[in-house]
Amino acid sequence: MTTEKGSISIHTENIFPIIKKFLYSDNEIFLRELVSNAVDAVQKIKRLGSLGQFNGEVGEPLVEVSLDAAAKTITISDNGLGMTAEEIKKYINQVAFSGASEFVEKFKDAKDANEIIGKFGLGFYSAFMVSDLVEIQTLSYQDGAEPAKWTCDGSTSFEISEGSRTTRGTSIILHVNAESEEFLSEGKLQEILDKYAKFLPVPIKFGTKTTQEEDGVDEEEKPKYKSVEVDNIVNTTNPIWTKAPADLSDADYLDFYKQLYPFGEDPLFWIHLNVDYPFNLTGVLYFPKVKDDFDMQRNKIKLYSRQVFITDEVKDIVPEFLMLLHGVIDSPDIPLNVSRSFLQADSNVKKINSYITKKVADKLAELFNKDRKAYEEKWSNIGLFVKYGMISEEKFYDKGKDFALLTNTKGENFTFEEYKEKVAPVQTDKNGTVVYLYTTDTEKQDGFIQSAEKKGYDVLVMNTPIDSHFVSSLEQKLEKTQLKRVDASVANQLIEKDEVLESVLSEEQSTSVKAIFEKAIAKPNFSVEVVGLSPDDSPVTVTMDEFMRRMKDMAKMGGGMS
Ligand code: ADP
Ligand code: MG
Repeated sequence: MTTEKGSISIHTENIFPIIKKFLYSDNEIFLRELVSNAVDAVQKIKRLGSLGQFNGEVGEPLVEVSLDAAAKTITISDNGLGMTAEEIKKYINQVAFSGASEFVEKFKDAKDANEIIGKFGLGFYSAFMVSDLVEIQTLSYQDGAEPAKWTCDGSTSFEISEGSRTTRGTSIILHVNAESEEFLSEGKLQEILDKYAKFLPVPIKFGTKTTQEEDGVDEEEKPKYKSVEVDNIVNTTNPIWTKAPADLSDADYLDFYKQLYPFGEDPLFWIHLNVDYPFNLTGVLYFPKVKDDFDMQRNKIKLYSRQVFITDEVKDIVPEFLMLLHGVIDSPDIPLNVSRSFLQADSNVKKINSYITKKVADKLAELFNKDRKAYEEKWSNIGLFVKYGMISEEKFYDKGKDFALLTNTKGENFTFEEYKEKVAPVQTDKNGTVVYLYTTDTEKQDGFIQSAEKKGYDVLVMNTPIDSHFVSSLEQKLEKTQLKRVDASVANQLIEKDEVLESVLSEEQSTSVKAIFEKAIAKPNFSVEVVGLSPDDSPVTVTMDEFMRRMKDMAKMGGGMS
């Protein structure tokens, strides 16, 4: 083979600076791109083998990453399909021409053609973010193929010559540039591989490691161990989200959770996502035990594309109210490396968003219907999601109204329907409006709660930050129903009571006691009621106008949860 020199054909005159600066904000993704290309190459040879288009030995698929700190090189090699010199010119030189999309087009009827990761035809060039010189050594699977070598220093000129590879596959050798020497560290590379390659479908080897292996038994019949060097395989090739739910046990889901969040407490339950039309998405979402420090627990969902880690920024893909969920979403249909606003407008992303909402609602309904008691035990944790979801998404409200629970001061839980049935007979006013009483603070409002309960009314507990919004949204949604805080000025009057209780005070006494209190408080929007029914009753209640109080509360929350 003779040496050939030429120019890389590009669609934009100087694409390298663009790639270097704008395409990827993070240098470290060069390794993600090159390792995924190697994985693609291995998947392709397997595919060709199973289609009968390659009759040689496919062998054990393997991708190997190696570091030579002294020579300042990082090598990514695979035993995939390799490339001929012609293919290098076509697939590598023609920037922005994606070999992968052509491959998928060609084999689109084959079952797992979409296992091919690459889609953009630019990934390879991310190598130049960290290299002065990139070298390809490759040998194609094709009959009579000769090994080829390609080198390029990041300008638009390249060189192709005879290569030195003797086995099928490709090695990409990066001559790391001065600004990127941080990558010439074993620890650093291991860290990047852990982040991006942990669940790739082909074994990724990075050096070796020492482990203990059983080595016969000693005099006391106890097993002996010896140290052995074994391949350091950085990934698990078939993570649970790629498997069928029927093949998985609870322990599998919990183990996987521990893998993702080694320090996390066990989750409450999980949802296995699996859809292939009209978009492709798999994953497992976990409901964590909610702690007070919400912010620490947000943004825990990891986004993958065909088992390659992409990001843990899933803000626009997962509905806002589910941002506290943990787990993994894998979808080749989510556009990558594009701007936020584009993502929000993307129709697949919108569909994915509503699919996830629906799956979560279905799972909650299932848990509720299957084991109400267990569901009630989890309510203090999941109530937040459910309420937030019902407030923020109409569709979720419609589903949630069947499994959302209202909890009263006695700790009893009711569905909306059950609650209405329970309180309507006692708490309906003259206009036929059912009045729900609630407390935002069982300690501070204890006197009001007690007097309401003495009258035979039920009081709901609405004491979490989300509840003030939830109360307003319930009032809008529930027909002929009002919610009044238990200390509201109207709570006593609105509710019709048959029995009239006799006060121990004369009318005159009541009036003067009332005047004393009003003078002492001296603020608008408060009202004073002198009850004084019996010695163990609160003799006087001071209430605040419900509307005014809510306005104050909202102001305090500074606009609320959105
Ligand atoms: P994409 O992966 O999106 O197609 P890349 O720029 O990452 O884009 O790669 C361009 C093309 O180069 C690939 O589609 C493939 O045809 C070829 N290629 C890259 N790396 C390898 C490899 N390790 N083995 C075989 N072909 C490769
Ligand atoms: Mg690629």
